[in-house]
Amino acid sequence: MNAQLLVEFVRDQYKTQDFIPLHAPTFAGNEKPYVIETIESTFVSSVGKFVNEFELKMEAFTGTPKAVATVNGTAALHTALYMAGVERGDLVITQALTFVATCNALYHMGAEPIFVDVSLKSLGLCPKALESYLDENATLTENECYHKHTGQRIKAVIPMHTFGHPVELDELVSICSKWNLALIEDAAESLGSFYKGRHTGTLGDYGAVSFNGNKIITTGGGGMVLCGSEESGNHTKHVTTTAKVPHKYEFFHDEPGFNYRMPNINAALGCAQMEVLEQYLKSKRALAEQYASFFDNSEVKFVLEPDYARSNYWLNSIICVDEQQRNEFLETTNSLGVMTRPVWQLMDRLPMFEKALKGSLSNSEFISSRLINLPSSYIAD
Ligand SMILES: *Cc1c(COP(=O)(O)O)cnc(C)c1O
Repeated sequence: MNAQLLVEFVRDQYKTQDFIPLHAPTFAGNEKPYVIETIESTFVSSVGKFVNEFELKMEAFTGTPKAVATVNGTAALHTALYMAGVERGDLVITQALTFVATCNALYHMGAEPIFVDVSLKSLGLCPKALESYLDENATLTENECYHKHTGQRIKAVIPMHTFGHPVELDELVSICSKWNLALIEDAAESLGSFYKGRHTGTLGDYGAVSFNGNKIITTGGGGMVLCGSEESGNHTKHVTTTAKVPHKYEFFHDEPGFNYRMPNINAALGCAQMEVLEQYLKSKRALAEQYASFFDNSEVKFVLEPDYARSNYWLNSIICVDEQQRNEFLETTNSLGVMTRPVWQLMDRLPMFEKALKGSLSNSEFISSRLINLPSSYIAD
């Protein structure tokens, strides 16, 4: 396999000799009229019809009992952790192979991460690794899970659906229920990805979606909390505002609110993008099929959706033979104007998390030294 051939192949797909980014947003629908409508109505801020509409569209698409729009995906995660009852000093189990926002959210709850390995099949949190970490290091006392060595409570697990590939949710759901751990799905990258027919982010207690500019659809900045029940959803909505108790004129707030509401002007973009989401998903699946056949019979492996899942193929990725080949690919493609990227630095190598507890991370390290993301933007037909 040679990087020059890959560059030609990618240029063929995008039919351009210009620079090809990893993932660019597309606005080919009703984005302009909806945004102009918010400006003309003056309702650009925290009140307006598009926020409700966007939430309803998300509920219809994902099947979640209640969706709550937020200013970004990190805020959605932060809110979900608060709602799940994570408190200062708690431990939260997640993967080291993730985008830093997952860990930033739990850090800002005053919690500390425990890093557990990912599965090579999904690139996300591995149920076997989670189970053996808990068996070795945790104990259940009065139905609360504690870390045997530090004495801290372990309160939640955050698996992340890496590049849109769903993790093994049935197994994770049952482990979390056995150990009384809240399950919060970081579904920031997986809008449009389904696990055994159910939308990612809807099998745990909460799910968090992101609409950052590089995600499958964008609202400029934005996020959504998918809530496991209507009741928890209504409470989530309350804390994403200022938690004001409804009253004709009195100001009374019954909880510390986050003020993480998505502005109406961003939600207008979201409503328009939801209208074309199916089209984006179709295009991305077609592109993934092209990549898959390009890498067929190659020593470089194209990452396919797990057999139990339907992925959104948000970011296409390959696993190189070794780090040296990865570096050669990155060098050649980027110098020829086709953007490719390695995966994030593992979280336990960042200064703020280097002292965190962790299990064996051999799969995470394997992927981290070999994976490359390929250009994956929507291609109009
Ligand atoms: C994008 C992303 C987020 C956070 O989203 P923002 O909207 O940028 O705050 C969280 N987790 C993962 C895995 C992401 O990729």
